[in-house]
Amino acid sequence: MVPLRGILFDFGHTLVDWVWDQVMASLQEAYREHRSYLESLGVANLMPADELMDVIALRMYQELDASYERRDLTERDFAETFRRYLRLAGIDLPPEAFQELLRREHAAICQGTVLPPASLEALEELRRRGYRLGMVSNMDLLLDIMRLDPPVRHLGGLIPVKVLSSGVGLRKPHPRIYEAALEELGLPSEAVLFVGDRVLEDIRTPKALGVRAAVLSHEFRQEEDLACEADATVRALPDLVPLLEQWPNGGHPNQY
Ligand SMILES: [Mg+2]
Repeated sequence: MVPLRGILFDFGHTLVDWVWDQVMASLQEAYREHRSYLESLGVANLMPADELMDVIALRMYQELDASYERRDLTERDFAETFRRYLRLAGIDLPPEAFQELLRREHAAICQGTVLPPASLEALEELRRRGYRLGMVSNMDLLLDIMRLDPPVRHLGGLIPVKVLSSGVGLRKPHPRIYEAALEELGLPSEAVLFVGDRVLEDIRTPKALGVRAAVLSHEFRQEEDLACEADATVRALPDLVPLLEQWPNGGHPNQY
């Protein structure tokens, strides 16, 4: 059996937590700044900032939630969606101004994302031990813009492989997104461990696609699923380091 050489992580509720109050506060501030920016461009008849946030950001969230409730596997195009909601609010921008507003919107959303320092240290330790690290995330935000802001900026060198549904066009549990991550990692599935918080997306499907093992994280949320096929469950991401010490690289964890 090939040695375990790579680890793929889910992003939301595995590497990071979403602090909703913080996302909302950061969006409220961003929309006050969006409005001033739009005024400086000469955009007329603007709604108050809080109404603009309601008809753009909050409706975009509602649309996103609805697509997950329908279990859509196709990821939406965030830039196209943002442009559509701006137009519904009577705002039609030239390309450069649109890009600037899109960047500011991303920065505001990313401000509500928390990466625990202990997780960062654990990732550094795993890198030191020679594992290739990657992440596979259902995320409509655009990677090139997310790279500018924490936490993705902090994960930059530590997790060289970053595969988002916004880049692939398909969400987990569609097999294509996992295959894209394995291709980028440059490893066969049997040399890779998958770590995540969701049973279908992060445990069952990666295992059906042949990953060596899958570990469930209960750090930020917990799904009730008695039939879960996880090889192990960790209370928090740093617990992965001692767990892997018990799993000699040559063997399947179930054997130990
Ligand atoms: Mg998750």
